[in-house]
Amino acid sequence: MTLAQYDTSALMNITARPDIVFTSGSGSWLVDDSGRRYLDFVQGWAVNCLGHAPPVIASALAAQAARLITPSPAFYNDKALQLAQAITDSSAMDQVFFANSGAEANEGAIKLARKYGRANRNGAFEIITFVNGFHGRTLATMSASGKPGWDTMFAPQVAGFPKAELNNIESVKALVSERTVAIMLEPVQGEAGVLPATAEFLNALRELCDAQGLLLIFDEVQTGIGRLGHLYGYQHYGVVPDIMTLGKGLGGGVPLAALTALDRACVFAHGEQGGTFNGNPLMCAAGLAVMETVSDPVFLAEVRATADYLVERLTALSAELGLGSVRGIGMLQAMELGADIGSRVVELARDDGLLLNSPRPASLRFMPALNVTRDEIDQMLDMLRSVVDKAR
Ligand SMILES: *Cc1c(COP(=O)(O)O)cnc(C)c1O
Repeated sequence: MTLAQYDTSALMNITARPDIVFTSGSGSWLVDDSGRRYLDFVQGWAVNCLGHAPPVIASALAAQAARLITPSPAFYNDKALQLAQAITDSSAMDQVFFANSGAEANEGAIKLARKYGRANRNGAFEIITFVNGFHGRTLATMSASGKPGWDTMFAPQVAGFPKAELNNIESVKALVSERTVAIMLEPVQGEAGVLPATAEFLNALRELCDAQGLLLIFDEVQTGIGRLGHLYGYQHYGVVPDIMTLGKGLGGGVPLAALTALDRACVFAHGEQGGTFNGNPLMCAAGLAVMETVSDPVFLAEVRATADYLVERLTALSAELGLGSVRGIGMLQAMELGADIGSRVVELARDDGLLLNSPRPASLRFMPALNVTRDEIDQMLDMLRSVVDKAR
């Protein structure tokens, strides 16, 4: 089969896609409909934490699909209860609301904070968010995001998201008023090109929130579930938020996300939050398979060791080719290219059978499966070396 045999016009044309149709995958490899293999260092944008079609998820889904797909979120089901317990047992959070996407979990976090402001802070509703932040593609989460151009794209925006600068505590303090109820950020800005918050900054935000009675919200949709080498990104920093959202890696490839919070922030009354597919046992069974695998301290130690290897090898390649800095935490890394050749590198790499992402014109982002092997990292670097040579 080739692309010409499909009617691509039936799929809404929302992005430029290459002429490849993927049909299967295994671990760090994707396979197209002509049988060609691609080494995948994008993994559905940091989604497939265990790689493509991992047996633990495949078997969990198959078993659950034959048992119960959904009874409706108006009833308890065993998998949602077990997964909520797995998250609260392994984190500082006390309660979990399941959602279907990171944006929906963040939308829930925004609603929860606004409800908290109504209940406890005299109707305060503003949530301080950050320049270059990314929280999703619903209207409220686009408004919370600080992506250039998004403020006017679907104007008018949802109000109440003043923007501060990452790692600049004074810029945050300057925005705090009696209208403020929360501060929301990614511990590492992923879509902005892998820009980590400093531990000092997150500690200062925690202190500010405690002093002012504000909620600290971590969007861990990208940094959670082992990505930074700890089960949750906040554990890397040692700063505990009041509300934390999860997505991407939580389902290991299936649509599953979570809004989690400390008891004192869980202020929804009945009827204020819900959703048809939320907490369905099919997706939660996948989430349980992910959690059982990724929360193992031995697995996480191996993620950190492999991530160290990735950084070491990227740094060596950068020195060898005279490229720029390597930055990131754990399995979320970026490398500066020194010139605006990112999209050209991505295209040439794809032609050679390597999938990469360029979040900025002059940088590459690496977000492999957490269980990527050193051998696959070596293969990626060999391909990248030749591609960078061709691109400049
Ligand atoms: C991907 C991402 C989102 C949006 O998640 P979706 O599942 O695409 O809605 C939100 N926040 C962060 C930090 C992300 O990386």
